[in-house]
Amino acid sequence: MDTNLPVTTQPRIVIIGCGFAGLRLAKDLADAPVQVVVIDRNNYHNFQPLLYQVATGALEADSIAYPIRKIFAGQPNFFFRMADVQQVDHARNTLITNIGEIRYDHLVIATGSLTNYFGLESIERNAMQIKSVPNALNLRSYLFQNFEKALLCENPVQRQALMNVVVVGGGPTGVEICGSLAEMRKDVLPQDYPELDLKQMEIYLVESGGEVLGPMSKYAQDKAKAYLEEMGIHIRLNTKAARFEDGKLYYSDTEFLRTENLIWAAGVNGAAVEGLPAEVVAKNKRINVDTINRVMGSRNVYAIGDVANLVTEEMPRGYPMLAPVAIQQAEQLAANFKRLLAGEALQPFKYFNKGSMAIVGRNRAVVDLPGDRHFGGFLGWLTWLFVHLMTLVGFRNKAVTLVSWAISYFSSDKALRLIIRPYKRHDFKDDKGKTNAQQNASTPEYNPPVPAPNAAVVGG
Ligand SMILES: Cc1cc2nc3c(=O)[nH]c(=O)nc-3n(C[C@H](O)[C@H](O)[C@H](O)COP(=O)(O)OP(=O)(O)OC[C@H]3O[C@@H](n4cnc5c(N)ncnc54)[C@H](O)[C@@H]3O)c2cc1C
Repeated sequence: MDTNLPVTTQPRIVIIGCGFAGLRLAKDLADAPVQVVVIDRNNYHNFQPLLYQVATGALEADSIAYPIRKIFAGQPNFFFRMADVQQVDHARNTLITNIGEIRYDHLVIATGSLTNYFGLESIERNAMQIKSVPNALNLRSYLFQNFEKALLCENPVQRQALMNVVVVGGGPTGVEICGSLAEMRKDVLPQDYPELDLKQMEIYLVESGGEVLGPMSKYAQDKAKAYLEEMGIHIRLNTKAARFEDGKLYYSDTEFLRTENLIWAAGVNGAAVEGLPAEVVAKNKRINVDTINRVMGSRNVYAIGDVANLVTEEMPRGYPMLAPVAIQQAEQLAANFKRLLAGEALQPFKYFNKGSMAIVGRNRAVVDLPGDRHFGGFLGWLTWLFVHLMTLVGFRNKAVTLVSWAISYFSSDKALRLIIRPYKRHDFKDDKGKTNAQQNASTPEYNPPVPAPNAAVVGG
């Protein structure tokens, strides 16, 4: 298949992934004398930090995703192909994708991350993850489907399992989703399910470490824990999920929590693409890069964002998988490409930490600022809303999100509870049509299209 990219005499920079990193890099190259080709398996940019709000009915999916072609309308050096990259053939400076081969002069891998189930197969098969828009819509449908089932269930133990939710992972995603579920339990579900005794619905947050919000300050950890407890969340610290079978999440051979709704937010691995030399892919599937984000041992392949494993003295375990890191690496790489074209020396990546934050619920959020400054409560909540609103792509999304938040604030309602993607748990599929297990398999079951021998690669 021909990808029909125009032939050009300018260097072609191919970027895999239009997440935070790929998007910023392609934008910052708008004025560079290069051809920018972005490849993503979705035709939209997904604002992952607000996925949990889609999963809990607070926001519609369209307000946190934005069409890639619309973002770049009017950028003449930009070309987009919706495709799944299957392999890098770096000897031929070519990508193998499901729509054909694409040649590059410089390649930037910005493929983000995948959920890490730590080899717990029963959990991988049966838990719900929250990494993509379809994941979030599935999760919302699945929760409401189980409430419909609970109405019909005569066995009280099973009925409670259908209503209970267990969230594994006490990082920002786990904390945020627990807070949102607690608000649903208080404000939304009693209106919709007056026949169910919602006092029976338990929400558990299971964390293997000794605190929630591990990477944040002690202030943020204690305050978030107190908020969650006020909202009726049961927090199980130093507890490792071991397996999930027959509606039971086991955390030892005999001890378990009963639930049909297990949400896995316990970790991610890099989404390294196939075809890179084994030695450049770290254990956590991030790609080892040097201080200019160039893949170790390579001349023209770079990795930025979550997938990049940039280890420095300051960050011996690599930079955190956060949107600001992805954005700043993209900005630095765009500047370095311009320096490269101008024959100037390249500059190493330096991270400017603007702080971190997490929201637990209405008027409850925690914010850590550089310089050991922290705050929470209403001011923290307002700060969280403002920063997330400003970072959303597109005026429409900002406006729709602001209106949705204002309505929910004043009405205490989350309007979106349609079951629009009904599915059986064991058939739980992501946007690529693969099950959780297939998605995270180390060897993809993909068969790259075999190009005809001696096939000419015209412009791509
Ligand atoms: C639920 C959730 C909440 C989060 N909350 C926060 C937060 O509050 N604050 C914060 O700073 N960070 C947060 N993060 C982390 C943040 O979203 C990531 O750090 C950020 O998205 C990384 O950007 P990226 O560009 O590296 O990857 P991504 O944004 O993940 O983008 C990767 C892109 O690559 C595409 N892609 C991947 N593989 C292929 C392939 N083989 N072929 C074609 N396309 C491919 C994907 O479709 C995707 O568009 C959160 C993440 C999640 C999942």
